[in-house]
Amino acid sequence: MSLELQGMGVSRGIAMGPAHILFRDKPDTLEYCIPPEHIEKEVKRLKKATKQARKQLKDIRKKIPGDAPTDVAAFIDTHLLMLKDSTLTKIPAAMIRKRGCNAEWALQLQRDTLVSIFDEIDDPYLRTRKDDIDHVINRLHRILGDEETSIDEVLPGSLAGTIIVADDLTPADTVLMQNQGIAGFVIEHGGVTSHTTILARSLGIPAIVSLPSARRYIQDNEPLIIDGTNGTLIAGATLEITNAYKKRLLLFRNHINALNRYKSEPTQTQDGRAITLLANAELPEDIISIGESGAMGIGLYRTEFLYMNRNDPPEEEEQLTVYRNIVESMQGNPVTIRTFDLGADKTVDGGRSSIMAINPALGLRAIRLSLNQPTMFISQLRAILRASAYGKIKILLPMISSLQELSQTLILLEHCKSELDDEGLDYDREIDIGIMIEIPAAAICAEMFAEKVDFLSIGTNDLIQYTLAVDRIDDHVNYLYDPLHPAVLRLIQMSIDAGKQHNIPVSMCGEMAGDPRYTRLLLAMGLEHFSMHPNALLEVKQIINETDLTQLPDTTLDILNQPDSYQAEQLLLEINQSP
Ligand code: PEP
Ligand code: MG
Repeated sequence: MSLELQGMGVSRGIAMGPAHILFRDKPDTLEYCIPPEHIEKEVKRLKKATKQARKQLKDIRKKIPGDAPTDVAAFIDTHLLMLKDSTLTKIPAAMIRKRGCNAEWALQLQRDTLVSIFDEIDDPYLRTRKDDIDHVINRLHRILGDEETSIDEVLPGSLAGTIIVADDLTPADTVLMQNQGIAGFVIEHGGVTSHTTILARSLGIPAIVSLPSARRYIQDNEPLIIDGTNGTLIAGATLEITNAYKKRLLLFRNHINALNRYKSEPTQTQDGRAITLLANAELPEDIISIGESGAMGIGLYRTEFLYMNRNDPPEEEEQLTVYRNIVESMQGNPVTIRTFDLGADKTVDGGRSSIMAINPALGLRAIRLSLNQPTMFISQLRAILRASAYGKIKILLPMISSLQELSQTLILLEHCKSELDDEGLDYDREIDIGIMIEIPAAAICAEMFAEKVDFLSIGTNDLIQYTLAVDRIDDHVNYLYDPLHPAVLRLIQMSIDAGKQHNIPVSMCGEMAGDPRYTRLLLAMGLEHFSMHPNALLEVKQIINETDLTQLPDTTLDILNQPDSYQAEQLLLEINQSP
């Protein structure tokens, strides 16, 4: 009899193969007292473990195949950096000395402190960075407990063709498993934006996460089928099901191969509407995959990474180097730099000195924080302006809700420009300024903003969250997170129309822009600029190039009046299935 389980599909593709169950849970941690005369020995033990962990990760880094995307190494580097950071070295050592406790316990306490800070963070990408803390601390715990630390030790020999079923996997595990040729993996924990799942997507490994107790229901060696697109796992499939999945696997492979031919084609609908496809970037390393995707520029460059894992904000010169490098490497294509979107609870010192906001999503974040901390903001604006002397840069302001916020920012920008003039420093005097439309108030008043800015960028991730009052990463309410809700679609339509009315470009840089299910609908609504993760770009391009807008059903825009989500899904299906 076959068994079907449902998790969250996070890395597309179908994998078929025997299960390889990994029984490696988080190591248990107990506190015990260290006599005063042995305290320094305990600190040394911690230092030795840290050194060993670094060595292990450096060895794994060497095993990354030369043709792997750059973010693969970047994720290992993140863990290496954490192992150097005082929060995981000096602070636990100080705890051992102060409390007279064992190294494992000091690490555990420090882990709990760091995780509680991350738990309060509103941004889902930053919030899931607590996984990295867990991965690094688990590695240290295993070394301290003399347990096996690497997949190669736990599962020696080839895992070729197997589907790993585990509690959790680290980015380092993923690299090693890729080397061993696994077909896919299923983990009981994890989320869409964890580094392990991002890596799985980069490496093209089909993966399902968030499938609790998977190891309870599946036996070692049992034949599995996993669908990383919709999150379905089937154990002990019948011949009929297996054959059906084999066909789908073939179709999927053909589809991926077919996409490559779109790389060199212009992006244009069948009836001749030219569309601009841009990429979203989070880290300087993303530039490689952006180049490979054929994007016409960067529609959203998130700058939060510059402020993470450090005590002080980055200096103007440091930022200038980063922005200059990115714009130079885009060789004339525009780079839209978004000013920092840090939350109320995520200050530059990692939250240590901040007051925890009760409702961080509605608190002092993004532009509000920028205007509240003008010195930090001015340093970023100056760095962006100076970098604009080296290529086409646009400035994007996050979380704008009122015209006052915009005019205050414009005053600061003018101040920066005149300072640079006085200092004889060059910049683009015509630099474009745009705002994110991610708060309903901004969408409703989009035409007022459109009169004053050079472009609009719709951030659907937050726009949906704020419109429907649904925390975008709360599992309990995510069934309500609905891009097709008429309120959301109408706000998007208002924003697109406002841009047209004032003759300024409107782009979309939230996840909806990179989801091929919505491409046709957004085209029909008049969207002409899409910015997305580079991995999604060719698929969206294929849909655009195959769409004839004159052939879409007459009922396409009825979806904006459809309060029933089932009916809305049906309409979307009709739109997507039309010729
Ligand atoms: C958005 O809200 O859609 C967006 C692109 O911004 P972020 O995901 O960084 O909040
Ligand atoms: Mg946002």
